[in-house]
Amino acid sequence: DRRYYDQVMARIEHERVRFINLEFIDVVGMAKCVTIPVEQFTNCLTHGKWFDGSSIEGFARVAESDMYLFPDLSTFAILPDKIRSSASSDPHRVEESVGGDIVARVICDVRTPDGESFDGDPRAILRQTLELAREMGYNYRVAPELEFFLLRFEEDGPKPLPHDRRGYFDLSTDLASIVRSQMVYALHKMDINIEASHHEVADGQHELDFEIADALQIADSLMTAKYVLKTVAAQHNLYATFLPKPFYGVNGSGLHIHQQLIKISTGANAFLNSQADYALSEEGRWFIAGQLAHASSICAILAPLVNSYKRLVGGYEAPVVINWGRINRQALIRVPRLSSDPNNSMRIELRCSDPSCNPYLALAVMLRAGLDGIQRKLSLPAAMDENLFLHDEGDRLRPRAPMLPATLGEALAALREDPLVRDTLGDTIYEGFLDAKGIEWTEYREQVHPWEVQRYLSVY
Ligand code: GLN
Ligand code: MG
Ligand code: MG
Ligand code: MG
Repeated sequence: DRRYYDQVMARIEHERVRFINLEFIDVVGMAKCVTIPVEQFTNCLTHGKWFDGSSIEGFARVAESDMYLFPDLSTFAILPDKIRSSASSDPHRVEESVGGDIVARVICDVRTPDGESFDGDPRAILRQTLELAREMGYNYRVAPELEFFLLRFEEDGPKPLPHDRRGYFDLSTDLASIVRSQMVYALHKMDINIEASHHEVADGQHELDFEIADALQIADSLMTAKYVLKTVAAQHNLYATFLPKPFYGVNGSGLHIHQQLIKISTGANAFLNSQADYALSEEGRWFIAGQLAHASSICAILAPLVNSYKRLVGGYEAPVVINWGRINRQALIRVPRLSSDPNNSMRIELRCSDPSCNPYLALAVMLRAGLDGIQRKLSLPAAMDENLFLHDEGDRLRPRAPMLPATLGEALAALREDPLVRDTLGDTIYEGFLDAKGIEWTEYREQVHPWEVQRYLSVY
């Protein structure tokens, strides 16, 4: 794209960029990076940058292991100096040399030697699904709420900051709030805009709320944000963790995702009908119904770790039932109350996703499930707006609302049965994901956990 090309080249020249990080993502959501000196960049734009795909998780089963990275110039950003040092490959040389050089990052699409888009590239899967939405007349926009813990390493393991004994929305002037503003500032310098940041419910837990934007841009931003946050935290000798449930008995970290479909023809929010119940249009109702219909299988993609399912239990503001409502935090989907600007604020919030997911795959399967609801005009069950926080109330309602998978094993079983999700992910990713996660689940299932020994050994 000529427009971006001229802009990017001008910035490289003007800001004296020395190195460029070529970033992409593997199937299980790990960010990958190849660094090239800036002199190689033009060549890379024409011919791509070769790498060995067989050493990347989920790419491995492909016989053809030669892969090429092609930069998407619209994602070009210069790493802020706080982040730069850790972007170089050799941490010991950081201070003297590379730390002083200007490094930029650009997110890449993965292609095969024939120049075809590689079907194991999660970014390509999201692009294809967004294209399907466009064919149906919609742009998909999302705003994630990213939760995480800031931990300090102590002798007996990682702990929340000792002086961080705070809760939801507490105003604090301690270290954590300084770290958080540095995070927001670093992201801002990379054109990632955070609408709000705040302390979350648990000690040491925080949240960043992203401004709503096109889904591909948000997936790119989430991939970047995770390493930016880890780097800023590390500069204060802290560890930022996106593990969904780091501590038993304490709220976990979710990645709630607010979604909109915008009609391309008019720019209107397709989910809004001010006259209707919940101000929810027919399309909005179908969309939610589609996501509920595929909830169990997409859960494997949205909450992909063994540990994810320790978060999805009652009593910690995480969803457990496959249903929707306005205020009910045990429901999978919420339709938050409208603000003064309904066209903009009408959103469908999906809540089972957590920050360990691959954001490209997550957004692709969420969108496809919602579109399936629209295509099949699926009918929506009644909203569940009773407060379900009490366990016995949850039990009482169980018969009329199916539960989310209780384990990674259950979610994978559902994923194996869902042809729509298979079709969305394509065989390479679908099978690669099921293989990798199947091994992870089996390994966990065969362990004898400390809880079992403690609870049973002295009794049986
Ligand atoms: N931490 C909760 C979760 O796991 C959400 C808390 C909140 O944002 N109200 O989803
Ligand atoms: Mg929030
Ligand atoms: Mg929150
Ligand atoms: Mg939320």
